Amino acid sequence: MGSTALQSGKRCVPNDTNRPPVIEIKDLHKSYGQLEVLKGVDVSAPAGHVLAMIGSSGSGKSTLLRCCNLLEDSQQGEIRINGEDVRWKGQGPNRRPADHAQLVRIRTNLSMVFQQFNLWAHMTVLQNVMEAPLTVLRRPRAEVEETARRYLDKVGIGDKAEAWPAQLSGGQQQRAAIARALAMEPKALLFDEPTSALDPELEQEVVRVIKSLAEEGRTMILVTHDMKMAQDVADHVVFLHQGKIEEEGPPAQLFGRPETARLRQFLSATQ
Ligand code: ADP
Ligand code: MG
Repeated sequence: MGSTALQSGKRCVPNDTNRPPVIEIKDLHKSYGQLEVLKGVDVSAPAGHVLAMIGSSGSGKSTLLRCCNLLEDSQQGEIRINGEDVRWKGQGPNRRPADHAQLVRIRTNLSMVFQQFNLWAHMTVLQNVMEAPLTVLRRPRAEVEETARRYLDKVGIGDKAEAWPAQLSGGQQQRAAIARALAMEPKALLFDEPTSALDPELEQEVVRVIKSLAEEGRTMILVTHDMKMAQDVADHVVFLHQGKIEEEGPPAQLFGRPETARLRQFLSATQ
């Protein structure tokens, strides 16, 4: 599953500077009431790149991901997905995405994987993976099933297609959730602490899948507490501290030669 290629240290990152970044965020400010959670954040995820986001609990990592796929609005700044400006309309309780077609486009282009897997308990693993391609993309069932089985094989749980989520281990459930995200053929995958709910021995099977996706040159934003995984898969690492980027750079620099006292402190606390 790509692990051989990983060991060779090769990655197929496309060198296409003409394409807009899949995700581009400029000067993002986000508050919940009086609480300012993001205080002017700039982040860019070019096609084929893996951006790891690290930082203490409460630093705004999940909020940033939620702003990307229009689960949250922001007060200031720009979010561009595939070169398209995210737009909202209305005020107060009527505030909503300005354009339903855009909302669907963006949610289709960005697939999210959550800490708690969020599989539908009343559907088999295969049905979970097929659901969105059938109902959102309206693809033909036979084609959707073939793709779904291919992605289940890819994440190593092809034999669990007919099982119910509750019959799977946490690591298998998370791999099913990753297959479900892949089945939408998204432009980017957003991972929000995908291994945090797993026992250490199950964590590694999910880490291996994420590494293989990085190998394939998939565009990803990976929020994680797993510094080893961040170091192994990221092209660029962002350290968020109290809603601001405190430090960022290539993994060798951030993990090998952290410049700020806050990052040094954070890294020593996570070891
Ligand atoms: P992280 O993912 O880095 O742990 P979050 O983005 O989840 O951080 O949260 C950042 C801050 O915003 C925290 O103080 C959290 O309590 C607060 N917060 C998150 N979501 C909401 C919400 N829906 N309403 C109010 N406050 C929130
Ligand atoms: Mg979070």
